[in-house]
Amino acid sequence: MIHIIDASKILLSLASTALLATSQVVIGASPSPFPDISIPFSAHSLGVKNIFYFRGESGVPDQKNEGFTSNAGFVVTIQGVIVFDALGTPSLGAAMVNEIRKITDQPITHIVVSHYHADHIYGLQALKVLTGAEVIAQKSTHLYTDGRDSEKRLKQRQQALAPWVDKTTRVVPPDLAFKDEIILHSGNDRFSIYHAGPAHAPGDSMMMVEPAGVLFAGDIIQSGRVPFLNSPQVDTENWMSAIEKVKKLNPVVLIPGHGKASENAMEALNFTYDYLAFVRNKMKAAADNWISFEDAYRQVDWSRYEELPAFDASNKGNAYRVFLDMEQKALVSE
Ligand SMILES: [Zn+2]
Repeated sequence: MIHIIDASKILLSLASTALLATSQVVIGASPSPFPDISIPFSAHSLGVKNIFYFRGESGVPDQKNEGFTSNAGFVVTIQGVIVFDALGTPSLGAAMVNEIRKITDQPITHIVVSHYHADHIYGLQALKVLTGAEVIAQKSTHLYTDGRDSEKRLKQRQQALAPWVDKTTRVVPPDLAFKDEIILHSGNDRFSIYHAGPAHAPGDSMMMVEPAGVLFAGDIIQSGRVPFLNSPQVDTENWMSAIEKVKKLNPVVLIPGHGKASENAMEALNFTYDYLAFVRNKMKAAADNWISFEDAYRQVDWSRYEELPAFDASNKGNAYRVFLDMEQKALVSE
């Protein structure tokens, strides 16, 4: 059953709910029903004693990487383990459970999902079967789970990632869907989960872990490359306000959805924030003054971003998308 919660702010306290008692499935010593992986797989320590992450290889999911292309992580508290993201196959999800078991006997109580894209969610099935943990995601994930794209992607992965994705693989929807933010307390740790999308997917969310100051940023914060904004689903205003919220929490370490963890979280956040602000300011000025997009684009000095990866591929499309938004807003406020 899915609980859709519309309140803009939700507080969950493990101490005051019966989640632990009802959600834990005891599987004893029964073997995992999911095919084993053969790639090296282990949890990396972050130098923070209770937080770990799994780092996928960059690239497209294929037979060689066995679908291990994204990151996931977990936080061990005295009341249970909170997992962030579930990797790209049920077998990888099962491997995560194995690795977590090497570190702690605490029950895995929750899995928070950054966004519903295949490379981050197929592991949910195994996590669910093996632990019974509650899946938390932003409520617009139903756009993915109910949609055709999800079926098409699953068929593609059944071919590309056999035997780890097969006929029995299914997309697991969230048990608890939130709208704007949700705060979860477990043991001495506090988890602030914010909706930041629609950014690169409708449900894009980030999770801040305190007191450690570790931010799981999903796919929307990448330092040192031009982010992708050119989709009708992107809302740069929401994106910026979510970054503002996590910046206030002063994160130290940032774990992106792909690539290496960054030990300078604020730098990565500021980079993405400043890029969004820059494009928005320039395109707003153009729309307000009835300057055509081509002229406006040519007049902007892009030199601070020109040398970065993905500039050629993304920047003009990004600017155009934001220009259209600003034009729309200028018309409405006329
Ligand atoms: Zn991804």
